[in-house]
Amino acid sequence: MQIFTEAREMTAAVKKWRASGKTVGLVPTMGYFHQGHLSLMRRAREENDVVVVSLFVNPLQFGPREDLDIYPRDFQRDRQLAEEVGVDCIFFPSVEEMYPQPFLTKVVVGKITEVMCGKARPGHFEGVTTVVAKLFHIIPADRAYFGQKDAQQVRVIQKMVEDLNFDIDIRICPTVREEDGLAASSRNVYLSGEERERATLLYRSLERAQRVIERGERRAEAVEKSIREMLEGQPGIDLEYVAVYNNIDLEPVEILQGEVLIALAAWVGGTRLIDNVLIRIDDK
Ligand code: AMP
Repeated sequence: MQIFTEAREMTAAVKKWRASGKTVGLVPTMGYFHQGHLSLMRRAREENDVVVVSLFVNPLQFGPREDLDIYPRDFQRDRQLAEEVGVDCIFFPSVEEMYPQPFLTKVVVGKITEVMCGKARPGHFEGVTTVVAKLFHIIPADRAYFGQKDAQQVRVIQKMVEDLNFDIDIRICPTVREEDGLAASSRNVYLSGEERERATLLYRSLERAQRVIERGERRAEAVEKSIREMLEGQPGIDLEYVAVYNNIDLEPVEILQGEVLIALAAWVGGTRLIDNVLIRIDDK
């Protein structure tokens, strides 16, 4: 497995692969791999001749009081895991390589970045779209793989690709969960034993919402309430938002119809976790 730290060399390698007729799949990550990351890499492995994983903890997408400094990192471990799933190459740039100073350009997607996580984390999605746009230029792949775990990120990147005519196919992979339902996340390592137990309530509340819908409930307000009832007032859990939104333009729905995103963010102790389910309702 090859490691590239310089953008110019990375781009040259990708251009060479593509010129020789090979397809290239890109998996952008911030590292500290878990089963979620590995599922994206496996899917990319199945669908491409060459798999490139980018590993970059992007300072631009962290707020000033967020966890950039303590974000878990272990390159040797990641390298081994990537190798085991058959990744061909890792792009592992430094911050200086990605953001030579002065760095003056930003990619901004409007409106759909102003709700949900975007509201609580101002500037976060600008950081995401700026780095992903750069990665798409540095690694001109055929396909790029993202996880549904970060549902809003998926929509924001799809919109950027559409609006700016990026010539890349975005593939979305389902959320990978621990046995008890907790969505796999690099941030789960922050949780103490007790917090880890509590964190299972997040997905359980989404399962409850799904059951309510299966029983025929179509009012978004009632679905949201079924989640709030389970999480609000729980010791050690601070619910930040619950969204019952259409999955196209991330606007609230009143009556569930079509593709509906049910998403939440909550603080479990000092750790902010997100989760979501996507449901399809085709009432006539
Ligand atoms: P991150 O390293 O957290 O930026 O994540 C890199 C990619 O992995 C993103 O596309 C995430 O959506 C995806 N990802 C993270 N956690 C999961 C998960 N539990 N299941 C599926 N994909 C995930």
